[in-house]
Amino acid sequence: MANSFGIFYMDASDILENIDTYGLQRAYETSNLPEGSYIEVLDQDQKVIDQYKSIHDVGYKYSDEEFDKLTINSYQHLIVGMNEENDNMLLVYNPKYPENEEKAEALARRILIQTIILFIVSIFTVLLIYAKFTSKTIVRPIKEILEGVKTISLGDYSKRINYKSKSELGYLIEAINQMSEKIEKEIGLREKSEDNRKRLILDISHDIKTPLTNILGYAETLRLSDDISKESRDNYVDIIISNGKKANNLIQDLFELSHIESSNNSIAMESCDLSEFIRKILLDYIPELEDNDMSFEFDIPDQRIMIKMNAQKLDRAISNIINNSIKYSGKGTTLRLELKDLDNRAVLIIEDSGIGIPMDLAKDIFEPFVRADVSRNSKTGGTGLGLGITKAIIEMHGGTIHLDTSYLDGCRFVISIPKAMNNLS
Ligand code: ADP
Repeated sequence: MANSFGIFYMDASDILENIDTYGLQRAYETSNLPEGSYIEVLDQDQKVIDQYKSIHDVGYKYSDEEFDKLTINSYQHLIVGMNEENDNMLLVYNPKYPENEEKAEALARRILIQTIILFIVSIFTVLLIYAKFTSKTIVRPIKEILEGVKTISLGDYSKRINYKSKSELGYLIEAINQMSEKIEKEIGLREKSEDNRKRLILDISHDIKTPLTNILGYAETLRLSDDISKESRDNYVDIIISNGKKANNLIQDLFELSHIESSNNSIAMESCDLSEFIRKILLDYIPELEDNDMSFEFDIPDQRIMIKMNAQKLDRAISNIINNSIKYSGKGTTLRLELKDLDNRAVLIIEDSGIGIPMDLAKDIFEPFVRADVSRNSKTGGTGLGLGITKAIIEMHGGTIHLDTSYLDGCRFVISIPKAMNNLS
């Protein structure tokens, strides 16, 4: 049996040889095993089938647990050989097998140190990745937000935070950008309206100063001239009256404009037929058009188009445009007016074949005191408020007005007014 044990441990080869030659006892003695050592031969069921000096008698069977313990955890029990034919094991117990223990301890220490190093390196790697990640997704946007908010709080509302993120911080950045955009717009509007207000006061002062200066000048001349002819006196009085009218018109127009703009929805409205209303206005203008050698084309539908209107104001709005056409277009020109009944609104087109309004003024032509030709305008006696009043009135009716810049043969205004909900009488 001993013959066929294969060697497991090189340093146990002499024991095996001795067993081969002399049997267990001699092998034990010649192998110089220390006091307390023993040798056992176990079969494949871990049962002791031969032994020398063992604490286990022949027939002792190691339980699986016991066997695992002594072969795995004990460095003193060594399975030194296996019998290839019957799987018998040669087990040597050597109480002084310190190298095994040392080796195992060293190995365990090495494994422990390696594990600790690996653990620390992993923690550092994770921390590094996390730091990189948080710096990209949290620290950087927060830095950008702080810088942006600081700039905005110093009054630079054109500042936008340039950082795209799909996280909550992204929404915060978007909200801050929207806020500063809104404030910037508000401030722009406020500055614009402040500029407009200043310009308006300047324009009013200028427009009212000229007639008043004339009135004062001619009144003074009259007072100082004792021997003035009746003809000159009448001339001076005419000038005073016409300048007085100019100033009066201006004040009335200003009053009307500010009244409409500040009245919001408080102006009385009633349902009226716009077709009939326009027909009546045009009828009144025919003699004046003929006097000015102007031809006209009117296209008003027969059916009723009901809208909510303040007849007096709407009359003023439309008359302003027709008066302008008569005022600024020369003889031989044509006034064309068309009323269209669309789905939920009425569209009124008023055009003339006169000199038109320069393209660059189209956007501002409804602003007070904007005039295309100041010299010509002073002759026509306009206040420069007519189109502003018209626009305010149209808007008061829920409508819109614009100058059609695609029309190049004169002047074309397009007015759109919503129809009354119940488009009956
Ligand atoms: P005004 O009292 O000067 O007529 P408006 O506000 O009515 O003031 O018109 C503003 C300016 O628009 C006018 O001064 C004139 O230059 C120009 N304008 C208005 N309507 C016409 C038109 N049909 N043809 C040419 N120019 C016009």
